[in-house]
Amino acid sequence: MTLFSAISLTSYLPTRLHPAGLKLTLSQQKKPKIGSQSLLKPRFGQLKTTLTILIATSISLLCEPVGALQVQVKPENPRLGDTLSVVIETNTVGIEPTVSMEQKTYPSFAVGPNRYRALLPTTPLDQPRSLQLRVSGDGEVKNISVALQNRSFATQRIWLSESASQPATELELSRVREFKKLITPQKFWNGKFVKPSSGRVSTVFGVRRYYNGVFANNYYHRGVDYAAGTGSPVVAPAAGRVALVGRVSEGFRVHGNTVGMDHGQGVTSIFLHLNTIEVKPGDFVQAGQRIGTVGSTGASTGPHLHWGLYVHGVSVDPVPWRFQGLN
Ligand SMILES: [Zn+2]
Repeated sequence: MTLFSAISLTSYLPTRLHPAGLKLTLSQQKKPKIGSQSLLKPRFGQLKTTLTILIATSISLLCEPVGALQVQVKPENPRLGDTLSVVIETNTVGIEPTVSMEQKTYPSFAVGPNRYRALLPTTPLDQPRSLQLRVSGDGEVKNISVALQNRSFATQRIWLSESASQPATELELSRVREFKKLITPQKFWNGKFVKPSSGRVSTVFGVRRYYNGVFANNYYHRGVDYAAGTGSPVVAPAAGRVALVGRVSEGFRVHGNTVGMDHGQGVTSIFLHLNTIEVKPGDFVQAGQRIGTVGSTGASTGPHLHWGLYVHGVSVDPVPWRFQGLN
């Protein structure tokens, strides 16, 4: 930084200069002195000017306030489906910075003294590209580029007869949509998420599909499936408040018996196709606490648990949350 400034200032010396510096050079040239030093004088004058400017520049650089916003983005090399964690340190107490990424603005929440964190979702539908993040806070704006890396997802080929797929009801769609909008300032989870079922993973996150031979552009498996026997326990992967309970009997035709859990700060979990539900809206549950049992209700071909993890309403890969943790 200092070196770069020094180089560019020196190269501008003859033409574009600090007015004071220019005056100095001229005055040196006005009164040439006789003697052995006379030839050196103008050059010395110029050097003095350069030094004056360099010192002035250095002082101004030193006096400039250190950027009030310190920003760190994790993971360093995010891939499609990863959750970006943007940690912001500010000098101002009590004003939460915001992070904008391509037209969307995400809130941040306090995670320590003068320390805030925003979570930004990415999905398998995104294009790998340079994401432009704009962090605003402390009366300052900081622009950051994050390279979103490509990732390949497995594909499934599904053949459906016309009558096999029935649409979701307006009731289940609207209730699930409202649930995913939740942004509670408190952070209920702590550390890594635990497995919500003891079953083996039968379908991973992000799998893409061909329906009757046609690639479904907007489809990706928005969660993880665990194959487990009907009636086997489903536990909360992290602490949270039960914010949605929906049953087939009231119109959850596709989702089946459903539990939605609010982990706070825009992070939510949804559990589908349950056999039984053992919690009610408003209940606060701890990580590992039983919430119901595995079933095959709704649009399901066999007993399994579908666990979807959402960040600001967007389905993200739960794997980093399970194995690294986003604290
Ligand atoms: Zn699933």
